[in-house]
Amino acid sequence: MRLVLLGAPGSGKGTQAARLKDALGVPHISTGDLLRAEVAAGSALGLQAKAVMERGELVSDQILLGMLEDRLSRPDTSVGFILDGYPRNLAQANALDGLLERIGQPVDLAVQLDVGTELLIQRIASRAQLEGRSDDNPESVRNRLRVYTDQTAPVIDYYRERGKLACVFGVGDMDEVFARILKAVRGSAA
Ligand code: ADP
Repeated sequence: MRLVLLGAPGSGKGTQAARLKDALGVPHISTGDLLRAEVAAGSALGLQAKAVMERGELVSDQILLGMLEDRLSRPDTSVGFILDGYPRNLAQANALDGLLERIGQPVDLAVQLDVGTELLIQRIASRAQLEGRSDDNPESVRNRLRVYTDQTAPVIDYYRERGKLACVFGVGDMDEVFARILKAVRGSAA
């Protein structure tokens, strides 16, 4: 099963992807986590990405594609994967399709986690207190939400037009949302 998880910052992609990974037995690939690992390692790429991420802007498409290509070339992805945080704009959606076509592993389904803006802001604020992520400050959050509306929301239509979109209501407790996602995923495979 090759899944793409779409949703605004704070929509619960990371939380749900971690559960889905166990339920489906496929790796969870979070581009945000991959980037944070580069930043933590102090690599050249990490140094380049750090300031961009702190501002809540998108790291370059070229860097992301290279990183993703690398990750998808690892053998654990032969059973499928859950992509979390990619694609984040239409250029990335096209690049992903190109890449997956080349390796004969097209996306099966994109799941959109739908959560209203007010709740997103509340969730990120409480996560900021718990985790202290350097991009969870108010200005960066505003930017990330704007980037989502301007650049990532069109990706939802991209998958809808290709008949590959499932929209899941992302409000409720974690188990409830998870059950909805599983239902959408299993329904699409039937
Ligand atoms: P969130 O969904 O809460 O914004 P992520 O961990 O997915 O958190 O992403 C954190 C940051 O990493 C983004 O704001 C962006 O700077 C960078 N990033 C992650 N994925 C991508 C991507 N596909 N393209 C460009 N930048 C990305």
